[in-house]
Amino acid sequence: MPHMNLSRLVFLLAFAAQAQEYTVLKPARVFDGEATREGWAVRVRGNRIESAGPAANIDAANAKVIDLPGATLLPGLVEAHSHILLHAYNETPWNDQVAKEGIALRAARAVNHLRSTLMAGFTTIRDLGTEGAGYADVELKQAVNQGIVPGPRVLVSTRAIVATGSYAPKGFALEWRVPQGAEEADGVDSLIRTVRDQIGHGADWIKLYADYRWGAGPAARPTFSLEELKLAVETAKSAGIPVSVHASTPEGMRRAVLAGVETIEHGDAGTPEVFKLMAERHVALCPTLAAGDATAQYAGWRKGESPEPQSLQRKRASFKAALDAGVTILSGSDVGVFPHGDNAREIEMMVAYGMAPTDALKSATSIAGRVLHMDIGTVKQGMFADLIAVDGDPTKDIAALRKVKFVMKAGTVYR
Ligand SMILES: [Zn+2]
Repeated sequence: MPHMNLSRLVFLLAFAAQAQEYTVLKPARVFDGEATREGWAVRVRGNRIESAGPAANIDAANAKVIDLPGATLLPGLVEAHSHILLHAYNETPWNDQVAKEGIALRAARAVNHLRSTLMAGFTTIRDLGTEGAGYADVELKQAVNQGIVPGPRVLVSTRAIVATGSYAPKGFALEWRVPQGAEEADGVDSLIRTVRDQIGHGADWIKLYADYRWGAGPAARPTFSLEELKLAVETAKSAGIPVSVHASTPEGMRRAVLAGVETIEHGDAGTPEVFKLMAERHVALCPTLAAGDATAQYAGWRKGESPEPQSLQRKRASFKAALDAGVTILSGSDVGVFPHGDNAREIEMMVAYGMAPTDALKSATSIAGRVLHMDIGTVKQGMFADLIAVDGDPTKDIAALRKVKFVMKAGTVYR
């Protein structure tokens, strides 16, 4: 077009692009991250939500209209504790995945995991450690962001950090140097260097293990001292990076809270006292109920037939104590222990363990958006257009989360 005025051409192209980038979604109702709104519609422009409200007030002009009759539209779900580089432990135990499966093999599986996670309606994951697969999470995130493979938004924590001796595959001759499940660091110099090195490699979150089953006894024991945890948090915070801590013992949890972490993972043996401290300091709990439920079944428990194992009875009690103390609950399942794409299991388990369906949904949407510091998790103007639709109403029957019929991430329809 040699004779066309360039600015006119740019204008026409921009206009053409804009004319196509409006979408109006018309479900039966919207769960906006807080409450259910009957008869709402949502207008999307580009990768963000332009408006949401009663359908009569939503302008459908110049927009592609998608009717979702009978469906509930809700924010894309958030999985706040995943391991995209692990696969179900009843296929291969953790030990063997870390020690015997190479990074390329694990990344190939992870591509499938990312796709099934997104198709199940989970549009964001916080991945809490590659479990021996180096920085593969950073590159998988790049693959998603570059449109090479479909997947959710990915927050990565790279290799995760453990105290020396506390987190390696077991069962090897002691003179062998076996591959590690996470990066070891201790004390002032080594912890500061490791936190910075992981941030330098692209960590969105720093993940530390405050306790683990290590040493001669079978029980979980604290690993890092309070001073070490404080140092790690201070180093990460000064770079604007939040810290998540694996802790299941009351002392590990207590140290993590006092050190200033933002989320605690698991919290299995949490006491009313330590949950009270978490609530006071606004530290969120990722309960990972689904992982315990899965591993108990892999160990032979027949759910619904044999009595619940003691570990799960304890978990039920501690989860209730967390709810009673008013701890912020963030939905995170430890998926990877069980199959990716089955993430809704955590939300179902939270309901089964006593949470109201609406509260469980908030934990996986609006609360998650807030705790993860992202423009996601609520259906309102300006948020990312990460939206899913399910048949039925999950605030009345949480099983509706399994009936995903529509998935949009950043304005692009994937399902
Ligand atoms: Zn985990």
